[in-house]
Amino acid sequence: MFKSVSVIGAGTMGNGIAHVFAQNGFAVKLIDVSREQLDKALATINKNLDRQLAKGTLTEDAKQQTLHNLTTLTSLAEGVKDAELVVEAATENVELKLNIFKQLDEHAPAGCILASNTSSISITKIAAATKRPELVIGMHFMNPVPVMKLVEVINGYATKTAVCDQIVELSQTLGKVPCVVSDYPGFIANRILMPMINEAIYSLYEGVAGVTEIDTVMKLGMAHPMGPLQLADFIGLDVCLSILNVLYQGFGNQKYAPCPLLVNMVTAGFKGVKSGEGFYKYSSQSKELVVSERF
Ligand code: NAD
Repeated sequence: MFKSVSVIGAGTMGNGIAHVFAQNGFAVKLIDVSREQLDKALATINKNLDRQLAKGTLTEDAKQQTLHNLTTLTSLAEGVKDAELVVEAATENVELKLNIFKQLDEHAPAGCILASNTSSISITKIAAATKRPELVIGMHFMNPVPVMKLVEVINGYATKTAVCDQIVELSQTLGKVPCVVSDYPGFIANRILMPMINEAIYSLYEGVAGVTEIDTVMKLGMAHPMGPLQLADFIGLDVCLSILNVLYQGFGNQKYAPCPLLVNMVTAGFKGVKSGEGFYKYSSQSKELVVSERF
């Protein structure tokens, strides 16, 4: 089993992934091109550990040990040179990821498994950028990583069964529930989630119901913790659009075509929580859910 793990990218997902590995006793090297992002990630991990401490799910000793297990670096070559496993969680951009995997292939030891946390880029394509496609796999954590139990384990076309077995066992060691899926557009999570979100946006666009009604039907009727429009705002409408385009292009099927309302909103800069407005309006002062006056 692995002892040393390198995590590439210290953003929303990278800090959560580093946190979970470090808390479970792995020596973690967290790598980002930005020193500022690394400092922010450490501050977030500290805050989240304090929350666990306050809830009584972590001791002060375990907190200190977790922090002790973490090192931050800006050099990829230095950060992966002794790694047994690399989990890449850098920005969702094909060219960027292909470039990172070429570098990982060059600098990580032979035999080191290279995993990607990508939401929508083909694992087979990422693997093809390396000379070790049999050791490349998808390890798709959910946000927030310390809380969400699922890890979607994605087998690329060339991934070895033994590598998949190791990643399944590792996910269980982290206290997660792995689900193994094949590498086709959207894998399973987004292949099912994004068409539901798109259909909710179509229902609004066609005037079938309002924002509150659509979200309330899905919350109370289907016991979803969040309605699909609120969830879309939370994920980022730009991210939803880009994943729908991956499904649409990947399958060549009209049923995945993004709703024109979603396209308009993203074009106009209404991206949900991150831009302050999507289907709802967000302000730092209030946690109350307020529907955008555009609907
Ligand atoms: P983010 O924008 O919060 O963070 C990305 C980080 O990558 C940034 O800190 C950036 O500085 C860093 N980075 C960029 N280029 C780099 C390089 N060459 N080397 C090292 N670091 C680099 O993004 P995120 O939301 O954490 O997403 C990361 C990955 O996780 C994406 O592939 C995304 O699809 C996937 N994902 C995101 C979510 C989510 O809810 N945010 C959920 C599941 C999977």
